[in-house]
Amino acid sequence: MFEGISVALYLGASILFILSLGGLSNQESSRRGNLYGIVGMSVALLVTVLNPLVVSYGVLFSTMFAGALIGTLLAKRVQMTAMPELVAMLHSFVGLAAVLVGFNNFLEPGVLVGAEKVIHEIEVYLGILIGAVTFSGSIIAFAKLNGKIGGKPLTLPGRHWLNLAIAVTCLGLGYRFLSAGTPGDAVIALGAMTVLALLFGVHMVMAIGGADMPVVVSMLNSYSGWAAAATGFMLHNNLLIVTGALVGSSGAILSYIMCAAMNRQFLSVIAGGFGGGLGAAGPSPAGVATPQGEVTPISAAETADLLSAARNVVVVPGYGMAVAHAQHILFEISTILKKKGCNVRFAIHPVAGRMPGHMNVLLAEAKVPYDIVFEMDEINADFPDVDVVVVIGANDIVNPAALEDPGSPIAGMPVLEVWKARTVIVSKRSMATGYAGVDNPLFYKENTRMLFGDAKTMMDEVLKGLV
Ligand code: NDP
Repeated sequence: MFEGISVALYLGASILFILSLGGLSNQESSRRGNLYGIVGMSVALLVTVLNPLVVSYGVLFSTMFAGALIGTLLAKRVQMTAMPELVAMLHSFVGLAAVLVGFNNFLEPGVLVGAEKVIHEIEVYLGILIGAVTFSGSIIAFAKLNGKIGGKPLTLPGRHWLNLAIAVTCLGLGYRFLSAGTPGDAVIALGAMTVLALLFGVHMVMAIGGADMPVVVSMLNSYSGWAAAATGFMLHNNLLIVTGALVGSSGAILSYIMCAAMNRQFLSVIAGGFGGGLGAAGPSPAGVATPQGEVTPISAAETADLLSAARNVVVVPGYGMAVAHAQHILFEISTILKKKGCNVRFAIHPVAGRMPGHMNVLLAEAKVPYDIVFEMDEINADFPDVDVVVVIGANDIVNPAALEDPGSPIAGMPVLEVWKARTVIVSKRSMATGYAGVDNPLFYKENTRMLFGDAKTMMDEVLKGLV
């Protein structure tokens, strides 16, 4: 009876998760997508509660309550600037769960024999392997994203050989695990592989530097999905398999899209620190590059005058807008300009901020209408016709060196070509570099004006000048 009901409910939940992913691919349907996800997850929890195998409802409910409480508190308290770290931390939980379930599954006395037993042990081995890499890799990503560890790539001598040696040793340990004569021998092989996989996760993410982090975040998302799918195989839980595969494959597709956006080779990033390019540069230790020329400052009042006279304005938000919480004031400015008859649009670079979709989330939170938010490919050709571009706390994503200087560490990365507009106003606090740690020739161009100061404070001043 339970079997039949759970299959039907799991099928429903799987469909809801697919609809959820579909909804999340578009800003307008993202709330609906979230709702589908919440309902799907509630159904999955219900099936778990109804499972006759549950031995203690006390333990089940208290752990569910603790998890829900921690999740609610974290989600309520987290600052938008800290979302990427939170996501990395959540990925690490999935990895840790896969490792714990794997060990538990192996240590529990089973009834499987022959080929079925071997297949199950392969599932356990792979689940723990992927889970351990996801766990330690996500912890390092968390530390890098919140600045506890510097963004500079750790390039150990012979690091590719080290990775290869770990991979070959894990294969050998896998063979030992499957052919072990006693459970004790098998646990030793499993434990040794876990330690190596944890080291591999640390080494892989430590070797990725600078502007390659967006790919790492989405790649760990994908890994966490595969870890969940492996857990599903271990537990014979179809919903976990389907959901894990959905997250794993969508994360892989997102990683591929991010790579294309940054002109990076997918395989080289996955391998961790292969090749040069963006990652090899890493942020400069002090975050300040040697200035390449003179800059022309502008005041908030002058900015307001320029904007008042403009007919066509594009706002380019970056990480600094998130730090300053300037999105709401920008929306107010855009509304006033629109009332004055100006065509105001927002331009979003795929890796702006510190997580995929970071700027879209912030602009949606500030109620900026979706129809004035454009992706890089949709708006890049329009810049020559734009009167004023306002770059708010963005740096790497508007760096012309990416296109003009083949020797630049970010060479080849497509960027928003804001310098083609008549006037560019860059709002940032200083001449400090962005995440990739490279100087930005945009600041020294003749048509660029630097509006120095905190983005929100400066935009408040600009707003005063507009009303
Ligand atoms: P950047 O990191 O290139 O630049 C942000 C700029 O914001 C800085 O130069 C800083 O200058 C300025 N800033 C910081 N605080 C404020 C403030 N309070 N007011 C005004 N300005 C401020 O950000 P971008 O969005 O341009 O580019 C994103 C970068 O992050 C890319 O290199 C990308 O690869 C990387 N990345 C992206 C991830 C993603 O998934 N999207 C994940 C991880 C990394 P100053 O200090 O002078 O104010």
